[in-house]
Amino acid sequence: MSIKIVNLTHIYDKKTPNETVAIDHINLEIETGEFIGLIGHTGSGKSTLIQQMNGLLKPSDGEIIVSGYNITEGLDLPRNQRKRVSKSEVNERKRRLIEVRKRVGLVFQYPEYQLFEETIEKDVAFGPINLGLDETEVKLRVIDAMQTVGMPYEQFKDRSPFELSGGQKRRIAIAGVLAMKPEVLILDEPTAGLDPKGRDEILAQIKALHEKEKLTVIIVSHSMEDMAKIAERLIVMNKGNVVLDGTPKEVFRHIDLLEEIGLAVPQISYLTRALVSQGFEIDPDIITVDEAKDALLNVLLKQKVKND
Ligand code: ADP
Ligand code: MG
Repeated sequence: MSIKIVNLTHIYDKKTPNETVAIDHINLEIETGEFIGLIGHTGSGKSTLIQQMNGLLKPSDGEIIVSGYNITEGLDLPRNQRKRVSKSEVNERKRRLIEVRKRVGLVFQYPEYQLFEETIEKDVAFGPINLGLDETEVKLRVIDAMQTVGMPYEQFKDRSPFELSGGQKRRIAIAGVLAMKPEVLILDEPTAGLDPKGRDEILAQIKALHEKEKLTVIIVSHSMEDMAKIAERLIVMNKGNVVLDGTPKEVFRHIDLLEEIGLAVPQISYLTRALVSQGFEIDPDIITVDEAKDALLNVLLKQKVKND
């Protein structure tokens, strides 16, 4: 399940004094099984971009092709841009758009605000019930999704989502999307507002899910530190454009550009850079504390052997 974005532009409040170009001619390709961190300063267009990926927002221009199917074609374009299509063609497009929404699961920022049922079980079951699945399948999916987010079904099913802690509420909201078994999971700032423990738990669960199910994951984040630890590819946005796209190591080589657009690289990169400039023989591409620890121990050990 690939997502291809071609020349995508999104303009809010077009032709009004508030006109904002949120996405400016973006081209991107996302392949099955990737784990992507989508990073950028507030207002850089991250949320707008991901809402295009499952057809929630219609672009002003350009195309989004999900699994070879152009989801931007026709349907909601202004009349003068719509090609004449038959009624059956319109229905077919609607059906496929629904199919895409099912396969590309989107967890909004602060998704816990959308919890509303009186029990956790009902909340997690809401999506799968809407998909028209039978009772047994719904229950299996709810059990599975709750397990995945570390909230065992038997223990939590009858409790109210409103008695949970912030981190638990968020995990239940994520379980609600997982229960629909998407092939692509997109999460908008899933760790926003959580304490470090809650943040690490959620990230670890997402990572485990990616590894176990080979799920394609896109996490929107403004934390370079977090994304350095878990993402395999980073897409960095600034003012509606993609400015960097590569592995975390490739991206973090551009410290100056990242700082210019208001993104700090992981603290450890500054340490590595300082050590390298002082002549220490360590890999300049170190981006996590663990890597730095190993490299430094290595240097110290060599020093010690020399001194002995
Ligand atoms: P990010 O998620 O990176 O913070 P957004 O996609 O939310 O960025 O916003 C990109 C730009 O579009 C910003 O300038 C923002 O103010 C504007 N914007 C976002 N949502 C809307 C909206 N519903 N109406 C008008 N402007 C919006
Ligand atoms: Mg946002």
